[in-house]
Amino acid sequence: MADNQCDLVVLGGGSGGYAAALRAAELGRSVVLVEKDKVGGTCLHRGCIPTKALLHAGEIADQARESAAFGVKTTFDGMDMPGVHKYKDSVIAKNHKGLTGLIKGRGIKVVDGEGRLTGTTRIRRWEAGQVPAKDWAAFSMERFEGLRDMPTAEIGRLMIEPGRRGQMGLVSMSCAVYQMYAGELVADAGFINCAAGLVRHYRLLGFRTYAGDMVPTADGIEVPLVLIPSDRAYLEQAGSFMAPFTDLFYGAGKRAPVDVGRWTRLLDADSAPVRFDAAAVWERVSRLRQAADEHPSMIETLSEDTVRKLGDKGFLMNIPAGHLLTEKGLTQREIFVILEGAFEVHDRERRIALLGPGEVIGEVGFFGTSGRRMASVTAASDGQVLVLRRRFVDELMHSDPACAAEVLFGLARVLADRQYAPAS
Ligand SMILES: Cc1cc2nc3c(=O)[nH]c(=O)nc-3n(C[C@H](O)[C@H](O)[C@H](O)COP(=O)(O)OP(=O)(O)OC[C@H]3O[C@@H](n4cnc5c(N)ncnc54)[C@H](O)[C@@H]3O)c2cc1C
Repeated sequence: MADNQCDLVVLGGGSGGYAAALRAAELGRSVVLVEKDKVGGTCLHRGCIPTKALLHAGEIADQARESAAFGVKTTFDGMDMPGVHKYKDSVIAKNHKGLTGLIKGRGIKVVDGEGRLTGTTRIRRWEAGQVPAKDWAAFSMERFEGLRDMPTAEIGRLMIEPGRRGQMGLVSMSCAVYQMYAGELVADAGFINCAAGLVRHYRLLGFRTYAGDMVPTADGIEVPLVLIPSDRAYLEQAGSFMAPFTDLFYGAGKRAPVDVGRWTRLLDADSAPVRFDAAAVWERVSRLRQAADEHPSMIETLSEDTVRKLGDKGFLMNIPAGHLLTEKGLTQREIFVILEGAFEVHDRERRIALLGPGEVIGEVGFFGTSGRRMASVTAASDGQVLVLRRRFVDELMHSDPACAAEVLFGLARVLADRQYAPAS
């Protein structure tokens, strides 16, 4: 094991931690156990063991006092508490020595100090043909020709400690995930679903959108993405810092890269349920502005310059009929401007409004302190929305206050109009 590398790091050497470390070592894994105090934890040093030692001393005192009842003559002169504690400490010390020896004997490296979990994710890997039907359907995997013959994975969301977001935490975590996913678990394609507002971030890592259905989840409708670890050309094109790692695992004498040529149409950005290219966004939004007489919209109140800026940062999302766009109670700060189709706003079975092109969804979550959705929204027909992130408007307030003011004024107007003339 290299000095700074291991299969498993266990934080805390209490009963739970050392049992996990011992088992992993037994299974042949290299393990580091980080303990900020003493291995053995609460149970050995302050809990089960010392209390049982004290109870044992108490039982002996009771027996000495009550020995006559058993026909045994003793005298009980009282407790020698320093002596009782010495006995208790000797039990702890003996067990601590035994445990330390056992841990060392299994080759587990113990690090003295406080550890911190700075990021986490989960990778579920499936052998070829073993993907559960639910996941196969959720990620529209049947659309990937030949995928049934490949090992695949689902990559959970990368969770980074808040203070480390936007710093090296993401880079080191992503590299570790890539290495585990491509190198150790060996999967040819890894799927993930994420909130629309996060797609841009995942794309920078090398995940790509594809022509799969949006994924309904407890957090609302999410965008499916795929990471093909051997596709160096795409990783480079996306500017992913994972691109150079492909050379470690693929190429001459290593594994053969996946032939992505057969998935060209599927992976074509134009066929994905979300589209990011500024030209496409501008074209769709311009069409809405031109049809302003027919569909009055908040967009029409904005200057062309502001609309172009929205086009650079916003993106298009297609929602098939019957799919949830958002759900009551979710914390979500995106604003959706309907470009196409009809969307039903409802509170469970109760229909509140039917909204069409030009209308805005999500202004309450956007402005409200909690960011919670006040109602659910379902696509009544196939539809398309422009998605604007709250964070983008927050940034605009600093970089271009005039533009931000225009957007906020437009949204405030929507709120006010709804207040006095609720849609029906
Ligand atoms: C008085 C008392 C009596 C008890 N009697 C019994 C009993 O008879 N039977 C029984 O089954 N259970 C008993 N328990 C409960 C038992 O002690 C706990 O269930 C057990 O210790 C839990 O183990 P753990 O590994 O989860 O946590 P702990 O034993 O608390 O271990 C956690 C370890 O992690 C370390 N640590 C924490 N954070 C970090 C970090 N960031 N970096 C590095 N190290 C870290 C701590 O120093 C500690 O050593 C008793 C508890 C008490 C308090």
